[in-house]
Amino acid sequence: MNKELKLGDLSAQAGERVYGTQELNIDGTATKIPVFLINGAHDGPTLAITGGIHGAEYASIEAALRLAQSLDPAKLHGRVLVLPIVSMQAYKARSIYIVPMDGKNLNRQFPGDAEGSASEQLAHWLTFNVIKQADYYVDLHGGDLNEALVPFTVFQKVGDDATNAKSLELARVFGIKYLVGSDVKGSTISAAAALGIPGILPESGGQGIWEPHHIQTLSDGLDRVMHHLEMLEGTAPAANETVVMNQFVWLRSDHDGCYYPEVHVGDMVTVGQPVGRVADFEGNTLQSLQAPVSGAVLFVVTTMAINQGDPLLAVGA
Ligand SMILES: [Zn+2]
Repeated sequence: MNKELKLGDLSAQAGERVYGTQELNIDGTATKIPVFLINGAHDGPTLAITGGIHGAEYASIEAALRLAQSLDPAKLHGRVLVLPIVSMQAYKARSIYIVPMDGKNLNRQFPGDAEGSASEQLAHWLTFNVIKQADYYVDLHGGDLNEALVPFTVFQKVGDDATNAKSLELARVFGIKYLVGSDVKGSTISAAAALGIPGILPESGGQGIWEPHHIQTLSDGLDRVMHHLEMLEGTAPAANETVVMNQFVWLRSDHDGCYYPEVHVGDMVTVGQPVGRVADFEGNTLQSLQAPVSGAVLFVVTTMAINQGDPLLAVGA
């Protein structure tokens, strides 16, 4: 029999689904985070699923909500924690990249700091109360309000080899074509890996658009992962052939101004190929952009407005 599943004041016994909110005081701001605890009637592993680490990546949020609302604890082997909107203040503010209280990207603050700024406190709470409980972790993302992307799944490639091998295996099982190895510090899955927990970060949808196919890509992946972990009986949807990319190279703007990309997401580019430019308001080119490696364009920022330091696009190879 699965042991009780708990988070804060909420708890679910074996065979129970419990929905509630976790009330946190994040650096002085009262925050209510929706939580689903789904404790299966049958024994199995513990899977943590988060969405809304970035509050305007709606396909990820909706995929997490749909799973949590529909998963039947009577048929479940193991335990599932679902937090569909981690960064509630960012969701409410329709914020791009950042937690409004401190202006920081939450997905660069893990494992966080209980005495730090708002996003560091939130990261710390999530790491040690949610992720640490899990045997496996899936953190759902997409393009933010200003980003178009082709779906891809990020896996952890630095740190413990055995954990990373399991992370790559989970990424393959999730079944999106492009798999991207990450060495980004401070991400959710890097914190999971440091605790010995394999994690993946699938991305689908973007620009505030959350069409059914964007959501289905993530729902099918979650279904495949849960079947692979023998948490669900029956068969999962067929997976796509996967391509592992060990490079994920981002271009950033050196200037404030206007951004004119010349490629689309999914385009194949060769190193040195012109991919866009940043200009001033008089039309002068301030920065000419070339493909940093040969590969696939995985995301493109789609706002004309661009600021110094902002991401512009990324190529996976
Ligand atoms: Zn994101």
